[in-house]
Amino acid sequence: MTINDSSATLLVSNSVDLAHSNTMALSCVADSVVTLTNEAQLDDFMATYAEDVEHQLSLFVLSGGSNVLLPAALNAVVLQPKMRGIHLTAQTDDYVDIEVMAGENWHDLVVHTVNQGWYGLENLALIPGLTGAAPVQNIGAYGVQLEDCLQYVRAYHLPTQTWHHLSVADCQFDYRDSIFKRTPNTWLISRVAFRLHTDPTHILASYGDVQTVAQRYAEQQEREQANPHDVMQAIIDIRQQKLPDPKQLPNCGSFFQNPIIGQDQFTALQTSYPAIVGYPMPDAMVKVAAGWLIEQAGLKGGGIAPIMTHKHQALVLTNHTPYQATQEDVETAQRYIANIVYEKFAIQLSREPVWVNADGSIGYAEHVV
Ligand SMILES: Cc1cc2nc3c(=O)[nH]c(=O)nc-3n(C[C@H](O)[C@H](O)[C@H](O)COP(=O)(O)OP(=O)(O)OC[C@H]3O[C@@H](n4cnc5c(N)ncnc54)[C@H](O)[C@@H]3O)c2cc1C
Repeated sequence: MTINDSSATLLVSNSVDLAHSNTMALSCVADSVVTLTNEAQLDDFMATYAEDVEHQLSLFVLSGGSNVLLPAALNAVVLQPKMRGIHLTAQTDDYVDIEVMAGENWHDLVVHTVNQGWYGLENLALIPGLTGAAPVQNIGAYGVQLEDCLQYVRAYHLPTQTWHHLSVADCQFDYRDSIFKRTPNTWLISRVAFRLHTDPTHILASYGDVQTVAQRYAEQQEREQANPHDVMQAIIDIRQQKLPDPKQLPNCGSFFQNPIIGQDQFTALQTSYPAIVGYPMPDAMVKVAAGWLIEQAGLKGGGIAPIMTHKHQALVLTNHTPYQATQEDVETAQRYIANIVYEKFAIQLSREPVWVNADGSIGYAEHVV
């Protein structure tokens, strides 16, 4: 596909190898990739794309590739939002408002804000990916979700080729969910705006061992109380110990969702497995730890090569032949794992990352068995 307009910097490449553009390091070649470094380029590209009705491929938005399982051949136009910039839009004694462009690395943004004395994102440190993708699944960790600090999202509605400001209510956030996730390849998020506070004594560190580690950092600095820097550092440490670094061992984070089952089934399972881990949910349901189920099924470190669960973290599937393994290998391993778990516990597992079909359409969360 060629673009004959004046946007000289708009980069459209054909037959692009994306094996290094997804943290699972799956082999993938995309039909074409459009690199967007400013918003106007999207208007330009979409005007041309809309005219090109004869051989129109579907669109697929790809950011850092840390939550996707790409097919070996992706017959779609991949839009890569790489706009950069962090803009201060308002400041008072109590808070700052910032607008962040989609292509900013998420973890670098967290570190930058904390270093500036702008607080609220510290619990979300070390989550891979780019800022534009963060609202898609309302990223969350250690008791904080993106929506807690979000003001609005600027996004392009691909079907109507129009720009929109979406408020928090418009984004329809839920646990690891949003309007962007529910209507895939419909929106392209270009800016994410946050309100961050400037009070260093306001921290959220009661989650797990964060408080203990953060306090240790504070004491090393001869401060009585932990501050957001300490919380961020604690979370970086804890995450580095718990999760494999995708740069060293390719993975896409938690591979299976924690299944939700009825209280009756949970009580029955408790009889056979007194140590089963469950969290009460509304409507007499219980959320069960998928990692525990996989481990109890004897699959910690197991799988079907080259896709194996991590030896210390059964919930994470890792790729042992980076840039060669394919989505099919993931399919084989996930089925194997889910089948064994089902046979043992009669619980179905669902995937967490986004499964990208060959035509760029995507399938979330369907049961694996
Ligand atoms: C080791 C590891 C740990 C992780 N830990 C966490 C965690 O603690 N909490 C958590 O919530 N997640 C976690 N994740 C998942 C992942 O990092 C997040 O979902 C992240 O926000 C994905 O960002 P990305 O840029 O890589 O998006 P991608 O993987 O490129 O895309 C993910 C989805 O978002 C869509 N998308 C991407 N960018 C845009 C955009 N600009 N506009 C519209 N749609 C878009 C894509 O089409 C795709 O459907 C982890 C992943 C890994 C590998």
